[in-house]
Amino acid sequence: MLNGTNHSALRGLLLLRRRRQITSSTNREVHKRWKSNVVGFVGLGNMGIPMAKNLLKNGYTVIGNDVSAKRMELFREESDGAANTADTLQEISSSTDTVVTMLPECAHVLAAYSALLESSKENQMFVDCSTISPETSIKVAEMAQRKGCRFLGAPVSGGVVGAANGTLTFMVGGQEDTVKAAQGLFDSMGSRTVHCGAQGTGLIAKICNNMILGMTTVAVAEAMNLGIKLGLDPKLFASIINTSTGKCWSSEVNNPVPGATDNKCPSNSDYQNGFKSVLLLKDMRLGKSLAISSGAPIPLTDKTVDTYEQLTAKGLGDKDFSVVYKYFRET
Ligand code: NAD
Repeated sequence: MLNGTNHSALRGLLLLRRRRQITSSTNREVHKRWKSNVVGFVGLGNMGIPMAKNLLKNGYTVIGNDVSAKRMELFREESDGAANTADTLQEISSSTDTVVTMLPECAHVLAAYSALLESSKENQMFVDCSTISPETSIKVAEMAQRKGCRFLGAPVSGGVVGAANGTLTFMVGGQEDTVKAAQGLFDSMGSRTVHCGAQGTGLIAKICNNMILGMTTVAVAEAMNLGIKLGLDPKLFASIINTSTGKCWSSEVNNPVPGATDNKCPSNSDYQNGFKSVLLLKDMRLGKSLAISSGAPIPLTDKTVDTYEQLTAKGLGDKDFSVVYKYFRET
């Protein structure tokens, strides 16, 4: 829940609603000149590894870290020896000028920054791309500020495909000069950077976007399950939706029905390597918490939270969230 101080800070942020797209042609060079090009990358999961590989491709030296030794090994393997890893966050912090974090939830981000900031340097830059609550991000920004460091909350949209292709959208909250200084990093991992305003505003945009994502995925799974039960061919039905008014990202790019599209989407590979259902549930709960504190009605989000709570209780939490189709099919 929001405490009093952060709640009023958030309300202020919402009122500001400053949205600006930043464009720059030579941002990578600017960032590299501003500081050294050594970047620490913490959280080598489904998103972290492809994002860190794009930093390598763009000439950065990357030192990765993950609590899982297997993920660090995979990162070294996939980067053909170009990547380094460090076992501790203190090493990451002390040997870099810039650190990117891509972690699952608020608790992981808070724990990681407590350790990272122990050995931070004045003016060091930290960019957190995890989807966490705006109030946690504001708290971490204050921790960083107390150590004389720069911090941006910069969640992303685009999924693992966007991470691999370097086409993520960054929704950034924080000081404008820091956003400019980090632009080279963003350009190396994404195709669009939007400075939403003060700390926490990028996360408000991200969480509200993911509420839509969760709801549209449940909607497509629900309707396709019914149509298929009534005899429609999955591929034919998907092609109709995708030229009709039901078309959305969840029907076109990440269709939840195996074989309904020829895409390389998780439903075509047993719902592996995508956006875990537990993480979507986390985002829906973050949206619910923001809605409760601001008094906005969220009837569809409530239903979606219920659905993902039931689905994860059935052991499907680590599967891509489009597994909701399989859940409906087998229920
Ligand atoms: P993931 O579970 O695949 O990866 C998270 C990684 O963080 C894991 O490898 C885990 O071992 C590591 N980790 C956990 N705690 C750590 C710590 N204290 N120090 C170092 N490493 C630690 O998750 P993901 O899909 O990569 O998502 C990461 C974040 O990005 C989440 O907040 C998620 O909501 C968000 N996100 C995911 C997607 C997607 O499509 N997967 C898209 C946009 C945003």
